[in-house]
Amino acid sequence: MIHRRLFLSCVLVLALVAAGSCGGPPPSVPGRDPLVLPETILVRSQGRIVRVPLEEYLIGTTLAEVGPVGERPEVVERIFRVQAIIARTYAASHLGRHAAEGFNLCDTTHCQVYDPARLRTSRFAAAARAAVDATRGQILVFNGRPGQALFHADCGGHTADAAAVWGGQSVPYLTGAPDPLPEGTHRTWQFELTADQLREALNASPTTAIGATLHRVRVAARDASGRVALVEVDGSEPRSLRGEQLRAAINQVFGARAIMSTRFTLELTAEGVYRFEGTGYGHGVGLCQVGAAARLRRGDDVARVLAAYYPGTTLTRAASQVTSRPRPFPGR
Ligand SMILES: [Zn+2]
Ligand SMILES: [Zn+2]
Repeated sequence: MIHRRLFLSCVLVLALVAAGSCGGPPPSVPGRDPLVLPETILVRSQGRIVRVPLEEYLIGTTLAEVGPVGERPEVVERIFRVQAIIARTYAASHLGRHAAEGFNLCDTTHCQVYDPARLRTSRFAAAARAAVDATRGQILVFNGRPGQALFHADCGGHTADAAAVWGGQSVPYLTGAPDPLPEGTHRTWQFELTADQLREALNASPTTAIGATLHRVRVAARDASGRVALVEVDGSEPRSLRGEQLRAAINQVFGARAIMSTRFTLELTAEGVYRFEGTGYGHGVGLCQVGAAARLRRGDDVARVLAAYYPGTTLTRAASQVTSRPRPFPGR
């Protein structure tokens, strides 16, 4: 299992930016049919705005978002098909995200990681291209619009409700559910830090600062998926923090692999050490990449896996629109 690496975009950025670049409702582009895909999109790639055929963009982003090392070829094929459909759906639902800046999508975790060099360098380039071709035009649709195809590395056994993680309105197909897969599919992790280290991490940002003394941190509330919703911090300045805020504060200092998710228990040992024990990696909303890979490995088909993680959405083949001229954006 360990050699199977799966990369992720929203997952990691949300470890740091707790309140959600990936969570808000996606802005649409006024005047365009949301179910007609543009032939090309404008991507800010390494600081330059470039026009890229949508399907080329999808190859570059799927290669950046998954690396199914150690999987059988037929499983690799299906992992890339799943990711291609998610990437296309995400692009279709976020075309207006950078409208004010004059392009559609950026190449960082803010949107989806996009690295065109991988089309030449990745050992999976041919598999990614084949998957994008095989799924051409396919997107997940909900209520006549492309869905918000959020995903993460590992749900830890139960996916999360988008509204519980980021607040805002509930999204019917992102509500969180058990991910019943064999023992060992989802990761477990531990992280320990001393009370002094925890105090310093909290004091590194004014939004989590607790002052000179930290008396105690305790979990005050969990959401339906078992994730820590609220933490009470008793210090010189007592605070209530959201679970993602505590995670972000610690990871800002110790890295994204410190507190891998908010699906943890917290214990203060007799030696004054805070011991976190958790499951999963990432925000937990939408598709669980390790769960999806496990389902594909056991033989589930692509549509079934997508239906499991985005219930109520419909896999649809969208029309394509040839964009012969750059479409003007507001503010350009
Ligand atoms: Zn962006
Ligand atoms: Zn899972």
